[in-house]
Amino acid sequence: MRRSLAAVVVVSAVVLAAIAGAQAQTARSGGKLNVVTSFSILRDWVAKVGGDRVEVTGLVGPGADAHIYAPTPRDARIVGAAKLIVVNGLGFEGWMDRLAQASATKAPVIVASAGVAPQPPPYPPPQAGEGKSIFPPPLLGEGRVGGRVGNAAAGIDPHAWQSVRNAEIYVSNIRDGLIRADPPGRVTYETNAAAYMQELACLDVDIRRAVATIPPARRKVITTHDAFGYFAADYGIVFIAAQGFSTETEASARDIAGIIRLIREQHIPALFFENAVDPRLVRRIAAETGAGIGGTLFSDTLTIAAGPAATYVDMMRHNVREIVDALK
Ligand SMILES: [Zn+2]
Repeated sequence: MRRSLAAVVVVSAVVLAAIAGAQAQTARSGGKLNVVTSFSILRDWVAKVGGDRVEVTGLVGPGADAHIYAPTPRDARIVGAAKLIVVNGLGFEGWMDRLAQASATKAPVIVASAGVAPQPPPYPPPQAGEGKSIFPPPLLGEGRVGGRVGNAAAGIDPHAWQSVRNAEIYVSNIRDGLIRADPPGRVTYETNAAAYMQELACLDVDIRRAVATIPPARRKVITTHDAFGYFAADYGIVFIAAQGFSTETEASARDIAGIIRLIREQHIPALFFENAVDPRLVRRIAAETGAGIGGTLFSDTLTIAAGPAATYVDMMRHNVREIVDALK
């Protein structure tokens, strides 16, 4: 009797080990950890840190606007199959909660921006008659009613990735989340993240050097929506936008009149298009003021592989090149 009890215990241990093994297997599809990110910049970072150990899908693809994204039933299936979900947070993906619910996912969620210092408006710190001071916070809060767009509607800027120092925080969070989801991959994730951090450190230095070549009085640009506040705070360029933190709210006639007045008063040298944002507003302002169009900045999305901003580092380098060329 005692002998058969021992046998049962041994069998149970074997069964438990087999179950644990099966669970570890299902966390990795085709030998890879199945990760879903909300948008393309996070996808790039997960791919950089995860390397060969991950299979990563970005829900909002290159060139698409994550602010106003409408998830599809296919997205719900993708999220449902994910073993790890990575989001920006700071109210950026107002649609993500409902999508996660619809998918019935049990996967852990990494909020990649956790730990960054959120930028409340207005910034850079307003000087009399300058920059964001023409847009009081109530105007920025006129998003979708009920605050369903999250913090973007409450006036916190979600575009924290536009600071390379913040990017280092994002990448640390992604590295730690991957290690929690796939502990055997720890060395890979730590090694890849460390190499990428060095790339980010070089990028940060290069941006500072490039901005230093612009005469201080000319470090002002106009963009469509207010996506460059963290860049502005880190690198000392004033960005003035016709739209708020989200593209959900269109610029009013009063906003546009204010921008036109500012361009004239302050001799702002250049306006920029943004990818994924309607270019007509910038064209109209350029036509009315005679200000030059500096090109296209990439704020919320990367391009396809053949484009000029296929990775985060390429995106930042492209933006700085465009800004320096237009303002120098
Ligand atoms: Zn945005």
